[in-house]
Amino acid sequence: MANTLVTRDKIEAEVRAALAATLRIEPETIDMDTSVVNGLQATSIDFLDINFRLESAFGVQVQTQLLLDHVEEQLGDGKAIDANNQITEAAASLLKLYFGEIEGIKAGMYADEIPMLVTPKIIADGMERILEHLPDTCQDCGASEWKTEDGAKVVCGACGAEAQYPDGDTLVTEWIQQVEAEHKLFAGA
Ligand SMILES: [Zn+2]
Repeated sequence: MANTLVTRDKIEAEVRAALAATLRIEPETIDMDTSVVNGLQATSIDFLDINFRLESAFGVQVQTQLLLDHVEEQLGDGKAIDANNQITEAAASLLKLYFGEIEGIKAGMYADEIPMLVTPKIIADGMERILEHLPDTCQDCGASEWKTEDGAKVVCGACGAEAQYPDGDTLVTEWIQQVEAEHKLFAGA
């Protein structure tokens, strides 16, 4: 079920707020297309903190494992990242499908370079992917009366339970299966 209670504007505002609070910068100064690592100087610890803030705001669980690690777990070692830690053609094609046509994704790039491609916009896209999976009915009482007070956290209008979204790792696993069934990127690799 599409989630009409949480708007894209709200998602982007929360991403800005999380980045600002973690990195101690002004939310208005954040360019949604800048690299969070190179442009905003975020470390991997900062990413954990940013994700925690967003999970708390929206009541979701973000993906804990990287996209290409999921690919290798499902389709086999070496399918996405070769022995030199460089990404394969198939992995580059998959990343383009996932992130859209952003600059810098190419076969042969080092796997360690991928986090540098992450922008505030990509973080917002990730949130949206989870939030659009609002269940049809409340997992606790079966009512379909979702509501939100703050525009971020969705609760049941009948019993007050927080909406339970599928977690980020489950969704990315399903997405990889769908894409592979459709495009067969890794089948011949
Ligand atoms: Zn309920």
